[in-house]
Amino acid sequence: MKNHKNLLLIIVIITLIFTGCSKRKYSMDYPVQPVPFTSVKLTDNFWAPRIQKNATVTIPIAFSYCESTGRVKNFEIAGGLDTGRFRTIYPFDDSDVFKIIEGASYSLQTFPDPELEAYLDTLIWKIGLAQEEDGYLYTNRTIAEMHGGEGLHEWASKNRWELDSILSHELYNIGHLYEAAVAHFQATGKRTLLDIAIKSADLVNRDFGPDRVKVYPGHQVIEMGFVKLYRVTGERKYLDLARFFLDIRGPNGDQYNQAHKRVVDQTKAVGHSVRATYMYSGMADIAAIEKDEAYLNAITEIWEDIVYGKIYITGGIGATGGNEGFADPFVLPNMTAYCETCASIGNIFTNHRLFLLHGEGKYIDILEKTLYNSMLSGVSLSADRFFYPNPLESNGQHERQAWYGCACCPSNIARFVPAIPGYIYAVTDDELYINLFISNNAELKIGDRTMSVSQKANFPWDGRVEITLNPEKNSKFTLNIRIPGWAMNEAIPGDLYKFADHNNDGFKLSINGKVIHPEIINGYAVTVRKWSPGDRVELDLPMPVRTVIADERIKDDNGKIAVQRGPVIFCAEWPDNNTGNILNLVVEKDSAFTTEYVPELLGGTQVIKTTGYQTRRMLGEEPSVLAEEEPVTLIPYALWNNRGPGQMMVWLPTTLESTNPLPAPTIAFRSKVRASKLTRDLSAVNDQQEPENSNDRSVTYYHWWPNKDKWEYVQYDFEKPETISKTEVYWFDDGPEGGCRIPDEWEILYLSGNIWKPINAKVSYKVTKNNWDSLIFEPVKTSAVKLRVRLNRDYSGGIYEWIVE
Ligand SMILES: [Zn+2]
Repeated sequence: MKNHKNLLLIIVIITLIFTGCSKRKYSMDYPVQPVPFTSVKLTDNFWAPRIQKNATVTIPIAFSYCESTGRVKNFEIAGGLDTGRFRTIYPFDDSDVFKIIEGASYSLQTFPDPELEAYLDTLIWKIGLAQEEDGYLYTNRTIAEMHGGEGLHEWASKNRWELDSILSHELYNIGHLYEAAVAHFQATGKRTLLDIAIKSADLVNRDFGPDRVKVYPGHQVIEMGFVKLYRVTGERKYLDLARFFLDIRGPNGDQYNQAHKRVVDQTKAVGHSVRATYMYSGMADIAAIEKDEAYLNAITEIWEDIVYGKIYITGGIGATGGNEGFADPFVLPNMTAYCETCASIGNIFTNHRLFLLHGEGKYIDILEKTLYNSMLSGVSLSADRFFYPNPLESNGQHERQAWYGCACCPSNIARFVPAIPGYIYAVTDDELYINLFISNNAELKIGDRTMSVSQKANFPWDGRVEITLNPEKNSKFTLNIRIPGWAMNEAIPGDLYKFADHNNDGFKLSINGKVIHPEIINGYAVTVRKWSPGDRVELDLPMPVRTVIADERIKDDNGKIAVQRGPVIFCAEWPDNNTGNILNLVVEKDSAFTTEYVPELLGGTQVIKTTGYQTRRMLGEEPSVLAEEEPVTLIPYALWNNRGPGQMMVWLPTTLESTNPLPAPTIAFRSKVRASKLTRDLSAVNDQQEPENSNDRSVTYYHWWPNKDKWEYVQYDFEKPETISKTEVYWFDDGPEGGCRIPDEWEILYLSGNIWKPINAKVSYKVTKNNWDSLIFEPVKTSAVKLRVRLNRDYSGGIYEWIVE
């Protein structure tokens, strides 16, 4: 009897543990849960049309590029449906197909489309055929093995996985496969792609582990992919793999892909910024599910490192192109800003997860700024042109492209845009968070309370938001409405950028017409009460035009202001301004601004107007600058480059020192420039920008690299014959690291009839570093002049500026 009792007790305890476990399994995730986009129907004029265009334009053309470039063909060949060699450039090209399937799956949930669904079915069938018997999926190797190993990409090793931490991207591809598979399963209920993903994941589970292959992913994403697989299957091994791939990073790998330290020891954002943000997102997932403090502390510190020193006012991150990634703090150049579209999307992933962990509005402040500016600039209004880098200043050299050889950005846009409604709301068991202000109707659950919520807003053009709450029955819960930093005199969390002006208008909040003064906690207006069906909350966020100044350590923004209204950053672009010249503008620091909505411009947009000045260098004994008053129109930064390439500028100079006046009409400036080597940099030689020294990277230069040990030239063809008697030249020299040095010798020739003749120099030729070389000669009347340069035997050379008088 006693024994029986004990047995019964044991059974009860076991049952309790099991129920406890299974309960814990579901509650052990983010403390705040997002309301999925499938529960939120947008009714607004800003995002809804963009999401529709993503469905009707971006996704179809992205698939058609995957077909025409051979990305789909790679699966067909690997699957035995066709023959031949690997058709595309990169071994990670498989990932684009997966990402677009993910986007198409999301899109299907908003725009059911049997034709698209059937296309996905066929595509998934081909992917299944391309998967090897044991689950391995990497078309480049599979195709190469059909040809005795020939055609294996140089980034891949003879054996599977071995070079993944360098460049093979095997784990990267399947990481995107897992994300796509979960999306497709959730959208359609079909297991086809999910089964392919599981077969692949089980191979990874067999091949990798503490006592098996220990290669960390060279390009992160599989960590997030495994967490999604874990959530959908409940299989613990997938969660363990996500953690395994994070824990084996560092401490002796490359900074470029964040393997220079163990992930929990990292406190600074370094290296490739897409890899970085995908990793931080994966770490946030582990921090949430396993309640891991070390992970949590690391990403929270890294966030501060980014936001306090490495983010642009547009939300863009990853300043430099060389590493496609983070530079040192405060190194944020505008014209060469990299700000890859994928990095903006990755940063949104990370900030959303940090919000779900901490419930703090500052993460949504960064998310919102990125969403409305640097992410959105990644795609054209027509939804068929894409930016890879998103610079903050242009001389006309930037233009969105229809597709890229490395197509990560278009495919990321395709999958990100349809999921935007999922960032609006979040819940806990007794709280509702309203994070973004976009007109919509949503169905959601707070604990076991079912309710509908709707928003009416004209965001981002207007700060008025009307929220209606419809709980099924009267129920008590906490409503947390985000009060954005920009509505409380904070341009961005931290001190990197500050509003230069003052605004005393606060936000206003009322419930059923009665003004309330809620407590602000962690960036949210918090209201606890018993809510009834039809309760109306009105929020009025102040949206005056604000000017922003940057921390003075950001050299490129010194003496400049940016213009912000709500979360939107504005810019000056060539079509809206009289002369089309933008880079020579200057405005007054305390300029007055007006703002209006222009329905016929760029699909309908707010514009901002002020008065500024066109500046121009003047000829004369004393160099001077002429400033002529001119009206200045600003448009949202994200909308630039929809009317062709040309000049654009976000940071507006407020001093003559910080602007770039138009060149004076000198002989050189009015000449046609030719050279022995034609490059886009040739315009540097007569742009009248003087460097500080022979290796000043802030000023453009022309070079002959990699040529060396030979004569090269630059030539001016004059508008009309001119009498000249003096020349000055400033050489480029990037020694000791670079490949250019001042030349061995140079000479000036002039055109006499059809013959080039040397000028008669009155002094001897010199070759000087870090200063001008000046030469006076007997006057000649001529229509063209040539600067010949003898390059060093071992080095190339270049020129900053060449003056003729
Ligand atoms: Zn990209």
